[in-house]
Amino acid sequence: MISLVIPVFNEERNLPVLMGRIRPVMSALKRPWEVILVDDGSRDHSLEILKGFTIHPEVRVVELTRNYGQHAAILAGFSIVRGGIVVTLDADLQNPPEEIPRLIATMEEGGFDVVGTIRKGRKDSLFRIIPSLIVNMVARKITGVRMTDWGCMLRAYRRTVVERMIACHEHATFIPALATHFGKRVTEIEVAHEERYGGKSNYPLRKLINLQFDLVASFSEVPIKLIMYGGILLALFGVCFGLLLVVARLLYGVIWAAQGVFTLFAILFVFVGLQFFALGLIGEYIGRIYREVRKRPEYVIECVHGDHSISSGGGG
Ligand code: UDP
Ligand code: MG
Repeated sequence: MISLVIPVFNEERNLPVLMGRIRPVMSALKRPWEVILVDDGSRDHSLEILKGFTIHPEVRVVELTRNYGQHAAILAGFSIVRGGIVVTLDADLQNPPEEIPRLIATMEEGGFDVVGTIRKGRKDSLFRIIPSLIVNMVARKITGVRMTDWGCMLRAYRRTVVERMIACHEHATFIPALATHFGKRVTEIEVAHEERYGGKSNYPLRKLINLQFDLVASFSEVPIKLIMYGGILLALFGVCFGLLLVVARLLYGVIWAAQGVFTLFAILFVFVGLQFFALGLIGEYIGRIYREVRKRPEYVIECVHGDHSISSGGGG
């Protein structure tokens, strides 16, 4: 059986078209399939539209109590999948459902655990692509996980990998990275990418920065170490500069040194800035520790529509 998991946040304009395109693709595969649509606390009519879909036996709708974010929503969907192969995609039709059969074929022919994807001819604004490029590069370096395109959510996972992901109760996770971590045989294929069908992106800059930090911080302590090494270098530089000032003072006299006061101010500002930056970074980690310690569920399922066995309380 093949399970599709789709997070939905304010996508009322896209849902009918999405289902209209999924159905023929999945029927053509001639094997059992289901689609789990996770309503991530939408504020438009998405939930009503989704509930309407549940007249079809393949469709189940998970209603979350509020907006938990794309990755938590996917995890909530994972918690009720039945299929042996699980495919995630976006609800805005940027990931064409027509690519699903190729993902599944690649997985089965190659015996892979995870089939990742690389967006070919990406249809996003530069504002969205440039941060992605940087993140892809940094993420590869830092996590040591070999993945070309971290952002594309059209991916296929084997059930075992999905179960391993549900088992780790981690907040602020990044699903593709987690999966690559847990899957033994991982591959990537190129898939098409389309313009968002309707509505606008749910990732304003604030959310984007947060997500990138999730990715980096949940897989390494490199940022903290960088600060430490940077600090040592700066301190050494400071000592050298101090010596230089002493020498200059001896050679050129008091007048030169008095003018140098301003240089010192400039240096001071640099240091103060760096200290604040370091504090902020440490604060970020402490904030995350605090969140983990509270052990709040990473999502709470209000109810599952289109299912006879009602599960609630979720969060695992
Ligand atoms: N999404 C979600 N919760 C959120 C933000 C987004 O479930 O808080 C879903 C959204 O409905 C879509 C997918 O995640 O299916 C990707 O979101 P979007 O298209 O806005 O992101 P972008 O394509 O700009 O990266
Ligand atoms: Mg999108």
